Order: sequence, then C-alpha cells, then structure tokens
Amino acid sequence: MQVITTISEMQQWSQQQRRMGKTIGVVPTMGYLHDGHCSLIERAAAECDAVVTTIFVNPLQFGQGEDFERYPRDMERDTTIARAAGSSVVFAPTTAEMYPSGFATTIDVGPIAERFEGAFRPGHFRGVATVVAKLFNLTQPHVAYFGQKDYQQCLVISQMVRDLNMDITLRILPTVREQDGLAMSSRNVYLSAEQRRTASLLYRALQAGIDAIARGERRRQHINKRMQEILDQIPDARIDYAAAATAERLEEPDEFPPGASVVLLLAVRIGSTRLIDNMLTTVPYD
Ligand code: AMP
Repeated sequence: MQVITTISEMQQWSQQQRRMGKTIGVVPTMGYLHDGHCSLIERAAAECDAVVTTIFVNPLQFGQGEDFERYPRDMERDTTIARAAGSSVVFAPTTAEMYPSGFATTIDVGPIAERFEGAFRPGHFRGVATVVAKLFNLTQPHVAYFGQKDYQQCLVISQMVRDLNMDITLRILPTVREQDGLAMSSRNVYLSAEQRRTASLLYRALQAGIDAIARGERRRQHINKRMQEILDQIPDARIDYAAAATAERLEEPDEFPPGASVVLLLAVRIGSTRLIDNMLTTVPYD
C-alpha cells in the first residue's frame, strides 16, 4: 500500500489506474479509523480493482468552537488499519495542499443541507460537499463509499453528484455498532466511562421510535416524544434534535402516510461530545 500526500502524485496515480482500465473505489474519511470505516474499505476492495482511503480532517466543515483541533489523529495506526482492510492507497494531504492561499470556491447543495445538522452546524455541509468534490477530482473514482451513520451527509453528496453530473456510483453502507448499539465513531474516544455507558441510550431512543412506528404511530410529534423520553435519561445531555423526517428530503409532515420511508435522526451532546445517529424505517399499512 502506498501513502500519497501530494495532489500531483494523487492525480498521476488515478490517471494511471484509469489508463490501465482499473476501477477505482474511494472511501473518504477523517481518519482515526474504526470498524465502521473498515466495512467501507473492505466493500470497496471487494468491488473495485483499486481502493483509495482518504484521510483528511477537513477544517472547512468545522465551525468556530467545534472540535477541529482536538479531533483524534493517529496516522501510523490509520495506515496499518487501512492496509489490512484492503486499501491500495492512503491519500493524506496537508491542509495547505488542499486549501492553498487564494482558495475560494465552495459548493452549496441547497435546502437539504440547511436542515438538522445544517441548522446546528452552519456551513458544515458546504465544507463537506467542497472537500468531497475535490477528493473526487483527485482520485477519479468509479464508486464512492459512505456510511449511513452520516445520513444527511449521504443525501448532500447524492444531491451534488446528481446536480453536477459526476459520473460516480455512490454506495451507502449500514452503520456499524458497538455491542450495546452505540454507533462507532472516532468521537467516542472523547467519552468518559460513565458517559460511554449512557451513550447507548441513543440507540435505545432510535429503537423506541422504530417500535412506535411499527405499532402504528404516524404522528411525528408522538414519535419524537418517544425518542426524547429515552434521551432525557442521559445525565449531562443536551439534545440538538431527536426527529422523524421523510427519508428522501428530510421533510417534517404532521403525520407520515402508510408506506412512507422515514428516517429517525438524533444529535445529542453528552458533556462536550456531540454524537449523531439515525435509523430508517417504513410506515406500515394498517
Ligand atoms: P468520518 O471519518 O467520521 O468522517 O467517516 C468517514 C466515513 O465513514 C463516512 O462515510 C461515515 O459515514 C462512515 N462511517 C463513520 N462511522 C461509521 C459507522 N459506525 N458505520 C459505518 N460507516 C461509518
């Protein structure tokens, strides 16, 4: 496995692979890799001839006062994990390489980026879309792999790929969880032992929402309340949102009709750690 840090080398490698008729899969990450990331890399390795795992903590997607500086980083560990999972290349550029002075262009995908995460982290998805577009240009993938864990991010990237006619297939893979249901995340290392224990209530809250819908609840506020009740049991928690929305466009009708695809979305701060999670379901017919 090769580690590439410069744009020129990355572009050369991608062009060469394409010339040889190889299919390229890309897995964009911010590093500090865990089994969730590995599931994406492994799938890419199974489906593509060559796999680029990108590792870049993207300053453009962090707001003021967020955790950009303290975001966990461990390049040596990451390269070992990326190699074992089947990467051909780790692309790990510096911030200066990605955003040289004078950098000015950003990508705004419209309303889908303004709700939920977008409302609590203004500019976040502009940063995400911009860096992913750059990473796509540099790695020239046939297929790009993302986790359902970041559900709204998947919608944002899909919108961008569709609107800008990027010739890339997106694969969204299921969320990998710890034994108690907590979604794996690089940010979980911030949690104290006690916080880590109560963090599994996020999963329990999502399940409560799913159960309510399965039992016939269609009223959005009632579904949200089921989730809220569980989250209220977490000491030291601040709930940014616990919301049911339409899976395709994240709209919030008073009631979801039978057959509707619904996503349950959570963003909760436990102490200074902000966790997100989600689950998808379909509203049953009577
Ligand atoms: P991150 O490094 O957190 O930006 O994540 C990089 C990619 O891995 C994104 O597409 C995430 O959605 C995905 N990912 C993160 N956590 C998980 C998880 N627990 N299960 C599956 N995919 C994940």
